[in-house]
Amino acid sequence: MKRVLFFITILTMFFLQCFAFVNAEPSKVMSMNYDDSASVVFLNILESSEGLQKSLKYSKLENPNRIYFDIENSVLIGEKQQLVFDKSSIKDIKLSQFTTDPDVVRVVVTFEEGFDTSKVKLLNVNGNIVIKCSPMTLQNDYFSPVYDENAQSLQYSSITVNSQVIQKVTIPQGAAVKAPGNVVADIQQAFENSTLSNSDGKTYDSVISVDLSSDLKLRTRYYINGYHIKNGGLLVSGFGQICASKMFYLDSPNRVIIDLPNTFVDKNIRNKELKICQDESCSDTARIGQFEFNKARVVITTDNAKKYIPVFSADAQSLLFINADKLKHTDLSSMVSNLTKTYVRKIDNKTSELILSFTEPVVHSILRNDNALNLYLFNVKSYNELDLIKTLKNTSYKELTMSLLPQVGVRASMGISKDDIVKIDQSIDGKAIRLTIIRANTGNDNQPVITAKKSAIKGKVVLDAGHGGSDYGAIREGINEKDITLDITQRIASILKSKGYKVALTRADDTYVSLQERVDFSANETPELFVSIHVNSAVASEPKGIETHYYHDFSKELAKTVHTHLMKEIDTKDRGLVKSKFYVINHTTVPAILVETGFISNESERSELVTDSRKQKTAKAIAEGIIEYFKAQQSK
Ligand SMILES: [Zn+2]
Repeated sequence: MKRVLFFITILTMFFLQCFAFVNAEPSKVMSMNYDDSASVVFLNILESSEGLQKSLKYSKLENPNRIYFDIENSVLIGEKQQLVFDKSSIKDIKLSQFTTDPDVVRVVVTFEEGFDTSKVKLLNVNGNIVIKCSPMTLQNDYFSPVYDENAQSLQYSSITVNSQVIQKVTIPQGAAVKAPGNVVADIQQAFENSTLSNSDGKTYDSVISVDLSSDLKLRTRYYINGYHIKNGGLLVSGFGQICASKMFYLDSPNRVIIDLPNTFVDKNIRNKELKICQDESCSDTARIGQFEFNKARVVITTDNAKKYIPVFSADAQSLLFINADKLKHTDLSSMVSNLTKTYVRKIDNKTSELILSFTEPVVHSILRNDNALNLYLFNVKSYNELDLIKTLKNTSYKELTMSLLPQVGVRASMGISKDDIVKIDQSIDGKAIRLTIIRANTGNDNQPVITAKKSAIKGKVVLDAGHGGSDYGAIREGINEKDITLDITQRIASILKSKGYKVALTRADDTYVSLQERVDFSANETPELFVSIHVNSAVASEPKGIETHYYHDFSKELAKTVHTHLMKEIDTKDRGLVKSKFYVINHTTVPAILVETGFISNESERSELVTDSRKQKTAKAIAEGIIEYFKAQQSK
C-alpha cells in the first residue's frame, strides 16, 4: 500500500512538472477585432515564448450553425467578449476562457442558417489569429473613420454601438417621428432642405437611429451637443462617431480651422463664441458652426494657429482642440495601453493599411502636414520594437518609426508627400487603429510599376471573357452568354493591339476557366487593368441595358470612363455604375471592372447582341474607354 502511494506521489509530481512546464507562460488573448472591409476577424494575442500552436483547426456545429476553435495554452484578459451583428452572415462571435486547467480560450462564431461554413479559413498571421470569411458580404463596420482627407467619400451609416451590440434602425425621410422633440425635427429639416443624392442617382433617406437608452442620434455619424472649455482647450462632444478632416489655416485674423464631415451641430450651440483661456493668458476664441448641411466647422482665432492639435478620445465620441503647449497628458486618460500587434495589408500598388492593436482603448492625435504624418498615441507606454520591424519590413510602412516620448506617449511618424491621401479609422472598442495611406502617383520609389508606366511602357490589360467551356453563362433561345463574351473580348483585344497596347486573355477559345484561375492568371500577367466581359440576364423579360461593375474605389474611375463610352456608342438603357463584389473584380489588385454588355433575357436586346454591329460597337467603346483611362493616368 505504501509503495502504491509512493508511486502515485511520484507520478503526480511528474505530471505536475509537465503541466508546470506547459503552462509556464500562456499566451494572452487581449481582444477581438473585426474588419468589415476585408471580412476578417482577428484576435489580438500576446504570444508566449513558445508561440501559438502550429495547427489551427475549427469544428462545425449545427443548431445553431456555428464553428468553434480553441487556442491552447492561453488566457483571456478581461471579461468574456461578444460581438453581435445584425443583417450579416455572421450573427455573433464569442470569446471566452473555456477551461483554466489547462488554459484554453474558445472562440465561437455563429452564422446565419444555411451559411456555408466551409468558406471560413483560419490563419496565423504574425501571431494574430485571423478568421477569414471571404467572399461574403458583411454590412456592418467594425472600424469607423476618425480622420479622412477625402470625406466626400464617406457614406452615411446607421450603426449604433451599444455595449458592443451592433444594430441598425432606419427611419424613412418624411416619416412622422415620435420625438423627444426638436432635435429630430431639426435634423430632419436639415436633411430635407438638401438632397442626399448619391452617384447612382438614388436619393437616400435620412437615417436616425435610436440606441438602447432611447436617446436619439443623428446617423450621419456625429451629432454635437457639447461645446465647452476643458483642460485648457475646446472640448467638442456628442453622440456617434467623430471624424475630422485635415486642418487648415487662414489669416487676418489668424485662424485654424478643422472641419467635421457628416456632422450635425445642435442649434443651441452654433456660432457662440467661447474664450479659450479663462484667465487673461491668451485671447484665443472658439466658434462652431454648421458650415454645410452635413459638415460642422470649428474655428479658433489665435496667434498660435500652428500650435493647435486635435485630440481624439478613446471612444471617438469627443475631440479636444488644444494648444499643444497647454496639453497635460495626464488629464487625457488614466488607462495605460500597450501596442501589442501590428498587421499590414496591401490593397494595391498605391494603397496599404496598417492596423495597430492595443491592450486598452487609445487616446490619440493625428497631425499631418505636407511632408509627414505623425500619430500621437498618448496613453500608450510600450511597444515591441522587434515585432514591429518584422511586420513592417518589405511593406510600404517600412519607413514608419515609433518613438517613446517621455511624458507624452508613443509617436508614430512617417514621411509622406503632399498628395498622398491619409485615412485613419478606429475600432468600436477603441483598441485598434487602422491607418490607410493612398500614395499619390508621382515621385515615389515604392511604386516601380507606376513610375515605369510614366515612361515608355504602354498599358497592359487583362481581358476576361466571362464563362466558357462547360460553363455556358446565361442561355436564351439557343444563344449562349459564353459565345458573345468571347467574341466581344477578341474584338477589344484586336483594337487595343492595333493601337500598341499589350493584351492578355484569360481564355482565347471555348474552354472552362475557374474564377480563381482567372484571378491567378491576372496576378501573373501583372497588367495595369483588368476588364471582364459578361452578358446580363433576368427572370423578367423587360430589363435591358448596360451596367458597369466595379468593387474597389480605385476601380471607379476606370468604370466611369468605360461606361461613358458605352453609353455614347450604344442606344440602350443606361443602368449605371454598380459597386459589386464579383469575385474577379474583388480579388484583383489593379483597377478592375466587369461590364454587363446587355440583357440576353430581353428579346429585342438579345437579337441585337448577336449582331456584328452591336458586338463591334461594344468592343470599340470599351477599348476607347480603356485608352482614355490610360491617357488620363499618364498625364497625371
Ligand atoms: Zn456572366
